[in-house]
Amino acid sequence: MIIQSINPSLKNAKISFLQKDLNAALDSAQTILNQAEENDSLDESISSKIFIAKIYCTKGRYVGGDQYFFKAFEVLDSIDESSINERGILDFFLTKSEFYSLKKDVGRAQKYAELAFQKSQKEDNTSGIVQSLLAKVEVFMLRNQFTEAADLTNKSLTFLKEKEEPILKAKAYNLLCKIRIKQQDYNEILEYGKEVLAISQEYGDIEKEIIATSNLGVYYATRLDYKSAIEYFYSSLEKSKVIQFDRQTAQNLINLGTIYARLFNPQESLSNYQAVVEKYDQVLVDTTKTIIFNNIGNIHFEEKSYEESKKHFQKSLALAEEIKYTEMIALALAHLGKLSCEENDFGMAMSYADRANELLEDLGDVNAKSINILNFAKLAHHSGDFETAILHLKEGIEISKKVRNEENEIACYRLLAEFYKDKKDFENAFQFKSLYAEKQEDYLKKQRNRQILDQEITFATREKEQQIEALTQANQLQAMLLKKQEEVERANEQLTQANEELKQFAYVASHDLKEPLRMIGSYTQIINRKFASELDENTQTYFHYVTDGVERMNNLLDGLLKYATVGRGAQELKVIDLNDTLLICQANLRLLIGETKTKLEADKLPSILGIGSLLSQLFQNLISNAIKFRNKDTIPEITIRSEEKETEYLISIKDNGIGIKEEYKERIFVIFQRLHAKTDYEGTGIGLAICHKIMQRMGGKIWVESEYGEGSTFFFTFPKPVGISS
Ligand code: ADP
Repeated sequence: MIIQSINPSLKNAKISFLQKDLNAALDSAQTILNQAEENDSLDESISSKIFIAKIYCTKGRYVGGDQYFFKAFEVLDSIDESSINERGILDFFLTKSEFYSLKKDVGRAQKYAELAFQKSQKEDNTSGIVQSLLAKVEVFMLRNQFTEAADLTNKSLTFLKEKEEPILKAKAYNLLCKIRIKQQDYNEILEYGKEVLAISQEYGDIEKEIIATSNLGVYYATRLDYKSAIEYFYSSLEKSKVIQFDRQTAQNLINLGTIYARLFNPQESLSNYQAVVEKYDQVLVDTTKTIIFNNIGNIHFEEKSYEESKKHFQKSLALAEEIKYTEMIALALAHLGKLSCEENDFGMAMSYADRANELLEDLGDVNAKSINILNFAKLAHHSGDFETAILHLKEGIEISKKVRNEENEIACYRLLAEFYKDKKDFENAFQFKSLYAEKQEDYLKKQRNRQILDQEITFATREKEQQIEALTQANQLQAMLLKKQEEVERANEQLTQANEELKQFAYVASHDLKEPLRMIGSYTQIINRKFASELDENTQTYFHYVTDGVERMNNLLDGLLKYATVGRGAQELKVIDLNDTLLICQANLRLLIGETKTKLEADKLPSILGIGSLLSQLFQNLISNAIKFRNKDTIPEITIRSEEKETEYLISIKDNGIGIKEEYKERIFVIFQRLHAKTDYEGTGIGLAICHKIMQRMGGKIWVESEYGEGSTFFFTFPKPVGISS
């Protein structure tokens, strides 16, 4: 922006503009204009007019209202070009180019960009040259000439030296990111996005910060790092709302909706899409709207709310027809066909599928085609034409693979198996059922992983794993036992429900509890620091209680999360030499062992099948407990024994500590169960619960025997691995 700062209050206006407080900027600029007109200062009056036009352009760009473009036009039109001074003319050209770009008047936008470029070149004005080139880039963008746009942006950057014009550089980087996103080439976005963030934060340029943040979200989404993507989109969203940058707000909501859909979180996805449609309708272009309606329809379809689904597919269709967006018309028709099949309305389904098919002939292999071919398969099957149905399905598999529509591909396998079974062709039915089982299982696994990622952490209890195992087994059996279909479906449902529970727990633990706690903690500290000198001793003690409580709660939550995530990830069981495990554990505990003079004696231990990190944790928890719960004034003695049984190894860790009463022997393995006050023995009551889970994961058992007052022995067993001897 080149506004000459003749008047100091113009500087304020510029700052407001940079911070995108557009109303304040407009007020200041208007005041300056009034003063200039009073003083008959032509130059100043022109420069403030150009500035006002620029502000209106920005407003129009943010909220998409024609009324702002009209105002910008009025102001620009009131300027007599021949009376603009040398310093003002470049800015005038640039603003005009921006205005026409926004109005999508490519010819005029190009003309003024060129004028600005020639002028800056003549004056050897680097900033002007770069701005004019970027104005030309906008023109290329309007013409969808992305390669040219990228080349020119890169060229414009070569004019800028290391520390020159950082804001302009940021603008160029943002443009480049926008181009790369259009080209679906995401590599550079990370570097440029971060660079823009740094610059815009340093100079308080909030608009570029918002755009860069959102670009980074796109980058991470393409790298399937949905967690980071969501964080960036939310951060961009928050700020775009503040400055009423509606167009970007809408974009952020759409991006969030899409990511949540990929994370198989229909509620969140819907709520974001719906927010866009309801609140930001005026900034959405119709092509985007048709896509959003289609996506909403799809989510409802997956959720089996067919009425809502139909409503949205129809909306998508109507709009797509209005704007002649063939690809989306075909997709909406294919979806409506699919929906009608689902509702057994085969007459309707046929008419939709036929209409879609007509359009699809010219479109090649697109998503709509993969869906529509399935419609035809169902229709053929319905009319008893088995051969055609099979042909369609086989073609459907190929197309679905090409357009990467996994759900559709899986549906093809399922139907093939069903149709062959109806025909009593069990060999083929068997083959496709196997394929279906395999793909469906993969898909469910992926879905499950993403849902869990959605909440950052897994609550992978043994119980849930068993359900998944049951499902896996059911899937395998299903190939042989075609008739067991219903059972699998029930198992699938249970899995979904289990996932739902996992998500809820993880969510509560990671967000709902930790965040407010962090807040209490930090504000207590702030208050305490601020008033420390004025507080009497009692109050200081109270503060201490609060901080202490917060810390304990935090430890409990950490423990809880640790418990929830034991054995997370698909680690395989490996051969582990327990002697090594014990050595690691002794090394970790050497301070405690040294301080308490603990005597530890161990048999030679076997090698078993397990997960190294979990086994170390098991030994460490048990040995540190054996030391912690020692009898006062007695030196702790720990004995580790190993016994080989017919099918398993039995390991025991015996101590001479305080022992455990008979009635508590089961309870201590339950999370948060402790038998002592925190002041007697520190702890959270999570250690043994974790041990219990670890042993479940290894396929073994754990229990305790104890003589109260004399000591305790913790026993645990490992199944003997085949072919390994100790
Ligand atoms: P924490 O040690 O954090 O309290 P744990 O889950 O490890 O939590 O243990 C639960 C409870 O079991 C302890 O509070 C203690 O009362 C009892 N306990 C565990 N190990 C021993 C032991 N070796 N001797 C006596 N009591 C024990």
